[in-house]
Amino acid sequence: MKLIKYFLLFVIVLLITTCKDNIVQPVSERVGGYAITFDDTYIKEWNAIRGLLKKYDAKATFFISAYHTINDADKLLLDSLKLDGHEIACHSVNHFNVIKFLETHTITEYLNVDIIPAINLMTGDGNIPKSFSYPYGMNSAFTDSVLLGYFDILRDVAEVQRHTENVTHIDTIESIFYKYDNSKVVAGLGIDANFNIPINEIENGFKRAVQNKEVIVFYAHLPVETVTRNYQTSYAYLEEVLSLAQKLKLRSFTFNELAK
Ligand SMILES: [Zn+2]
Repeated sequence: MKLIKYFLLFVIVLLITTCKDNIVQPVSERVGGYAITFDDTYIKEWNAIRGLLKKYDAKATFFISAYHTINDADKLLLDSLKLDGHEIACHSVNHFNVIKFLETHTITEYLNVDIIPAINLMTGDGNIPKSFSYPYGMNSAFTDSVLLGYFDILRDVAEVQRHTENVTHIDTIESIFYKYDNSKVVAGLGIDANFNIPINEIENGFKRAVQNKEVIVFYAHLPVETVTRNYQTSYAYLEEVLSLAQKLKLRSFTFNELAK
């Protein structure tokens, strides 16, 4: 009897100590999903895929840089994207590589030239940015801790794609899967045509997301009919990705929903 008591006590203590720091949501509330994100300032071209996104019930996240260059007509397009349920998020003003910038400037200077003006301009238009994606995916633990004072969640890029062309086995890239672990920095897998990710690789990633109830994160830039240069994604490829996600019953998340 005494032994059982000690054992129960041990189990309770173990549960308390393991649950304290890393609150993982109950599996029953987790669903397999995907988050598709786009970077930079391609407002018209993003607007052109509204129908495609709607067709597959996909909620995208648009990380905007150079917000001050967006004219009123394009701001109306942003409103339409927002009305469709997409997220309007922040990608800095000047698209600086923060790590390089900090070699010669302070973090306060960085915030003052590249972050706070973006937040103010966007907020002034009712597009209060809650998520941020790092230009060039360049960041550090220090920049993460500072920027999390301004945003709920930050998007990094998959490190392996910096060093390796034609990355395979995407289902083994841990950083691109959000695991409902309250992580506030989540990487995306680049899916622009120059990253050469075949659709069967996307399928492997999706299958892991379904099986483990995780959310796989992608990033792209400029959607086009025909790819002519780097950092473009064809409509046909996007449609293959979105239709596959629908077929496998993955839920579409905006990036900020991962911070909830
Ligand atoms: Zn960018």
